[in-house]
Amino acid sequence: ATPTAIMVGTSVAAGSGILVKGGEAMEVASRLDVVAFDKTGTLTTGSPTVVAFKSTRPENLDYIISVVVSIEKDSEHPIAKAVRDYARRRSPTELALSAKSEVQIVAGQGVCCVVNGIAVAVGNGKLMSERGMKVVSKDIEDFTVEHEDSGHTVVLVGIGNAVGGAFAVSDELRPDAKDVVAALRERGIKSVMVTGDNWKTARAIASACGIEEFHAEASPADKVAFLKKLQGECSPRSKNKFEASKVAMVGDGINDAPSLAAADLSMAIGAGTDVAIEAADLVLMHADLYTVVRAVDISQKTFRQIR
Ligand code: ADP
Ligand code: MG
Repeated sequence: ATPTAIMVGTSVAAGSGILVKGGEAMEVASRLDVVAFDKTGTLTTGSPTVVAFKSTRPENLDYIISVVVSIEKDSEHPIAKAVRDYARRRSPTELALSAKSEVQIVAGQGVCCVVNGIAVAVGNGKLMSERGMKVVSKDIEDFTVEHEDSGHTVVLVGIGNAVGGAFAVSDELRPDAKDVVAALRERGIKSVMVTGDNWKTARAIASACGIEEFHAEASPADKVAFLKKLQGECSPRSKNKFEASKVAMVGDGINDAPSLAAADLSMAIGAGTDVAIEAADLVLMHADLYTVVRAVDISQKTFRQIR
């Protein structure tokens, strides 16, 4: 691309709320085959709320609520804020938990510590099974199936060697997520999703926005591997030229930074973490996801004319 084309593309993009950081980024945007979306905070709003709570024994409620508030106190994860807010509303008088060890944060799983000599943990199923905390209650089992099937994330509370409670957390789909996927498809671009969340929740979100291919329970390294696999595929668009697919990644989190760096074009949600913004070629300054489509349109207009 000529320097003039890059300048024109950059300034038109700025007018649409797209901050262009990489010089060649807009040209790559004109030749995309696949866009990979992170789920939490990208396809969804990233401000989750608790929609339901279940405890195995009602007499345990105050204890469970107090444990959750105290253990999630220092976590910056959006889920931690959601359960804290809910717990405080549900049981405003917090029990004093005197002998509490330092809280351990397990990335992609949850938080745990020891209270009065008993191990407690708040997080996903993986965290529970790794700590030997079993789901023994049929109520919790049914609750988990029901909510994961409807796209909620279930957060379990482990106490000792059993799961004593569960929260269902809902993170709303961005209102334009479905339109974005459809608009990209019209332009011959396939949308896929990558997420650290569990398979069933991922499936519900993917189908709600019309995404047919996704990778769930992915660590940051898994997200990179998934992108590399997509890049190695020859897309219908480039078939006649036998070129590798051009893959864009859209993300917001610290856990997206490695895959943003591995993509042919990286886009960060402007309200996302600093790490993601730093790693990205394009920063989407507006709250709407449709800016992804605008970036493609602007780049195609700019570069298709000039070539
Ligand atoms: P995502 O890619 O969905 O943003 P993360 O890698 O941040 O996911 O976390 C994966 C999962 O780990 C979450 O969906 C949640 O179930 C669990 N988790 C992580 N941190 C916490 C926490 N502080 N409290 C409860 N659950 C957590
Ligand atoms: Mg995210």
